[in-house]
Amino acid sequence: MPNIELKKITKKFTSINEATKGEVITAVDDVSLKIKKHSYNTLLGPSGCGKTTLLRMIAGLEIPTSGKIYFDKKNITDMPTQKRDIGFVFQNYSLFPHMDIWHNVGYGPIVRNEFTKETEKFIHSVLRMVKLDERAKAYPSELSGGMKQRVAVARAIATRSPLMLLDEPLGALDVRIGTALRYDLMKLVKKYDLTTIHVTHNQEEAMTISDNIIMMKRGRIVQSGSPKEIYDKPNSIFSAYFLGRCNFFRSEMVGKKTAKFQDTIIKLPKNHRKKKVVLGVRGEKIHINSKLNKKNIQGTIDFINFLGEKWQYIIRLSDGTEISALKRVPHKAKIGQKVSISFYPDNILIFDEPKDFEKEKSV
Ligand code: ATP
Repeated sequence: MPNIELKKITKKFTSINEATKGEVITAVDDVSLKIKKHSYNTLLGPSGCGKTTLLRMIAGLEIPTSGKIYFDKKNITDMPTQKRDIGFVFQNYSLFPHMDIWHNVGYGPIVRNEFTKETEKFIHSVLRMVKLDERAKAYPSELSGGMKQRVAVARAIATRSPLMLLDEPLGALDVRIGTALRYDLMKLVKKYDLTTIHVTHNQEEAMTISDNIIMMKRGRIVQSGSPKEIYDKPNSIFSAYFLGRCNFFRSEMVGKKTAKFQDTIIKLPKNHRKKKVVLGVRGEKIHINSKLNKKNIQGTIDFINFLGEKWQYIIRLSDGTEISALKRVPHKAKIGQKVSISFYPDNILIFDEPKDFEKEKSV
């Protein structure tokens, strides 16, 4: 079972596209990372940030331009994929269409000539775990997307590789099936004691499934930690916004622990040195007050969205900024009503104002 270490990994591609021929793209930029064995890790970030390229280098499907990859302290940077002992699950299932489910799942042990009575039992037990033992004789074309992805996961487990790499495994599935499969994946990975690296751009998926989230932006790792660590203590505007969404108030420090946003003085939880700051407050930490309090930030309720387990209130401030407040029980304020909003100092995240706020927030 490998502990994985990446040291200063960079991957550059040279474009072969007519329009951009010869242009060099840095897909992964000087990434160092340690993955603990038996942990469930997600590589999370916006489209094009280098997640898949990083995963493919760990799998041996791409060779780094520079840097080294170690499995249990052994340098495997140039080792071919088939020698790395990896189970790989792709977004598009990649099943063999001419083989039934049983043979698809058993493919690894069969081609490695490791087929014994015990292997046969193991394949049946994996098929039971993914709830497809009754469909063992079906062909992939006879299965739904969710079932096909279950087969792909079962096939990766049946290889008995200790390391499972998953590239957007739930991306092609409808939300309900994808969400159910998340829990199945977690259970399977823990049951078979696997180490997992899972690529996704879906922050909710990463939050529910991971022991450890590795947040990427433009080829680099911006933060890694447990979902709660990153949610509670994002180290940047990007992390705060990408994982769990956040409201931002571009303010100016007017005292050691006070900032001014428009005409409102805001108490902060701690000192901050830089003059220009961006204050972040999560939607569930915003209080809506129907009584207008001139000391608080004021706005107008623009939309009320029912999201199932909670209500979202979009409050438009005088400068056009939209604030999203989340409530478990509906607030009495109505659309078009003027309200004031407030939050406790302990719920404020403080960031230095970046050069380009919008760019920093996005990708
Ligand atoms: P997505 O979530 O959209 O799949 P990603 O975060 O997985 O994105 P990558 O697929 O790793 O991102 O791509 C990172 C960058 O490298 C992108 O700019 C992409 O266009 C570029 N890239 C990836 N593979 C190649 C390649 N074979 N040739 C040229 N450029 C590539």
